[in-house]
Amino acid sequence: SRTPLTLLGTGAMGTALARAWLAAGHPVTVWNRTPARADALAAEGAAVAASAAEAVAANRLVVACLLDDASLGEALGGADLTGRDLVNLTTGTPGQGRARAAWAAARGARFLDGGIMAVPPMIGDPESGGYVFYSGSRALFEEHRDTLAAPAGTRYVGDDPGFAALHDVALLSAMSGLFAGVVHAFALIRREDIAPRDFAPLLVSWLTAMAPAAHQTAEQLESGDYAKGVVSNLAMQSAGNATLLRTAEEQGVSAELLTPYMELMARRVADGHGDEDGAGMIDLLVRAATRD
Ligand code: NDP
Repeated sequence: SRTPLTLLGTGAMGTALARAWLAAGHPVTVWNRTPARADALAAEGAAVAASAAEAVAANRLVVACLLDDASLGEALGGADLTGRDLVNLTTGTPGQGRARAAWAAARGARFLDGGIMAVPPMIGDPESGGYVFYSGSRALFEEHRDTLAAPAGTRYVGDDPGFAALHDVALLSAMSGLFAGVVHAFALIRREDIAPRDFAPLLVSWLTAMAPAAHQTAEQLESGDYAKGVVSNLAMQSAGNATLLRTAEEQGVSAELLTPYMELMARRVADGHGDEDGAGMIDLLVRAATRD
């Protein structure tokens, strides 16, 4: 029989997770701060606990998917975590993951932090490509690996409990740059006789073709040779930026999403590194935050 588990938080993501575990045959006990939000799951076979403490008492494996780290602290404030396996799928920072691991250990629980790389419709669908980064207790992860794999793929990224959040947030941060670019590109064509519907496939295939450049950046970081294999060097890109900015101006579009990246590039070129591509800018960013 399948491992029974407790799920705290039946919001959009928690509900999708609970459904996936129910569908896979796991007995699921749920708790939600606003009880009505667990009604649908009760009808689908979940047991509903009256309090978070009662839900935690019901099963050794306890999964939390709440709004943020503060809500996790609030929900679990009165619960006895002794001997529990706590899996936190609430999005947080690496620092919050590490602090929660220490907090859980002090309460006698094993702890695994998770970062969900999926939206609710992808949960429980093995074809969707959705997965969850996990870090923290390897023993917990190994023991519950099959259970954790029911809603989405699993990627264990290390025993540092901050690493799941770090991987999650790094990917989300890259996505915000990508979406900023998409927003700017649509703005450029907005007032022209170009159908967004016709433009979108061009955008998608260009971004898809360019994304593997990240592999070259990784190789440069690994080797320390930032000019290795450069095809489009920073001096050339920086000159090209003038065309991007002037086009924005011609089209009556604010360049505010582009300029911070372009200014960083110009600084790297001014420092005498026009023969590189992106890797050296990473050092500039890291140093900028640790300077003084
Ligand atoms: P929802 O807003 O749908 O649900 C939030 C949940 O947190 C609800 O169960 C809510 O309870 C509960 N909650 C909020 N504050 C408190 C509190 N102080 N004490 C106890 N419970 C509280 O969010 P999602 O389900 O979409 O997201 C949950 C987590 O999953 C978040 O960390 C999110 O970042 C992450 N995630 C979500 C994704 C998505 O696309 N939705 C994608 C990847 C990760 P109540 O019903 O009482 O308000």
